Amino acid sequence: MRAIVVGAGIGGLAATLSLRRAGCEVTLVEQAPRFTEIGAGIQLAPNATRVLRRLGLLDEVAAQAGHPSRLSFRTWSDGNEICRYALGREVEDAFGAPYLQVHRADLHQVLAGAVPPGSVRLNTLVVGIEQDEESARVTTAGGECLEADLVVAADGIRSAARRWMFGADEALFSGTVAYRALVRADEVADLDLPEYALWLGPGRHFVHYWVRRGELLNVVGVVGAETARESWTARAEPEEQLRAFDGWDPRVLGVLERTGTVLRYGIHTRAPLTRWNVGRVTLLGDSAHAMVPFQAQGAAQAFVDAAVLGDCLREVDPAGVPDALGRYVRRRLAAVTKVQAGSARAGADYHLPDGPEARARDARLAAQAAENGFGPHAAAWGEDDSDEQAS
Ligand SMILES: Cc1cc2nc3c(=O)[nH]c(=O)nc-3n(C[C@H](O)[C@H](O)[C@H](O)COP(=O)(O)OP(=O)(O)OC[C@H]3O[C@@H](n4cnc5c(N)ncnc54)[C@H](O)[C@@H]3O)c2cc1C
Repeated sequence: MRAIVVGAGIGGLAATLSLRRAGCEVTLVEQAPRFTEIGAGIQLAPNATRVLRRLGLLDEVAAQAGHPSRLSFRTWSDGNEICRYALGREVEDAFGAPYLQVHRADLHQVLAGAVPPGSVRLNTLVVGIEQDEESARVTTAGGECLEADLVVAADGIRSAARRWMFGADEALFSGTVAYRALVRADEVADLDLPEYALWLGPGRHFVHYWVRRGELLNVVGVVGAETARESWTARAEPEEQLRAFDGWDPRVLGVLERTGTVLRYGIHTRAPLTRWNVGRVTLLGDSAHAMVPFQAQGAAQAFVDAAVLGDCLREVDPAGVPDALGRYVRRRLAAVTKVQAGSARAGADYHLPDGPEARARDARLAAQAAENGFGPHAAAWGEDDSDEQAS
């Protein structure tokens, strides 16, 4: 079985590795001249780390990661702890894999390092995908035509493949921007920060956690906004973020005062689709289901997509590809659509104005903590990524 994967983001790399594990010969095509991931943190919930383990990469990623023992929800103004959720050994015991927090560049390097260099075409922009009953073909800006039995379009939130397959629909602005920065541990050592905290306030929230074995603090401030570009590299003045969190707990302001480069990212989503596949071509990751990041699940969902896709293609011959892609989408679409909706609800919940609704939310979070210990994000952690055909 020959596959072409378009896009070497987290989704495309995971798909490449998973398809190779299922016995496919894969060509990974990426427009950028080299593998890159922007310098910022990413959280890997156990549904992502289970897939990393299956790909044989969990130990390598874990060696670079932060290993949080708990998540603390805090009130914006006085820093009171609303509740705390277990994230250490308890999560591993319940979900079969750890909760990790990593620098994106570290994760990307491990994934890219596992793809044989001969399978990768960098600096290659895909400008068209077509297919017939026998095969699928990808056309590049350089005028080449690459042929395979299937094409996986993991080309991200601005996916051109999605447009070619399902017509024009735009990325939707979520009404929020994320300010992102990394701060060296020694610069915030005096602040007595909780290990991993989510501070909730009216119209905004603030998150920080440790990456790169605790050497760097990853900082994300999310604020309501009227418009913003979806760009990983747009910069903001540090003062802009400070102004947005005026009056917050001194520890939050202390972190913000010490951030250097701050990136400003307009958070966008994609409307859920009713299918991701046409014949021998399918979407995967953000091209299929970009979501707001308030449950830290976008990349995790791409990892699970990759695992399930590999499972559905194992021991399938080329004629069976369209049916196999149908099975993949049936196993994934409803589950991911639920996570997309849950993530949007979490954002609205985090940003409630002070008052009775916010107090009811806090009581709910505390009750959940007392009940199962894992918190509102855990709904997707146990989802089915199993090797059905193998078992
Ligand atoms: C602020 C923020 C915080 C987040 N935090 C988390 C988190 O903690 N945990 C989590 O699980 N998720 C998180 N996410 C979501 C996660 O970042 C995304 O879901 C994930 O990176 C998507 O990966 P992807 O491979 O689908 O797309 P992308 O990373 O966008 O990759 C697409 C790739 O395709 C390439 N490409 C595009 N078009 C073409 C073409 N025509 N030809 C060739 N190549 C092409 C691009 O160059 C790119 O390399 C967060 C998102 C945001 C915005």
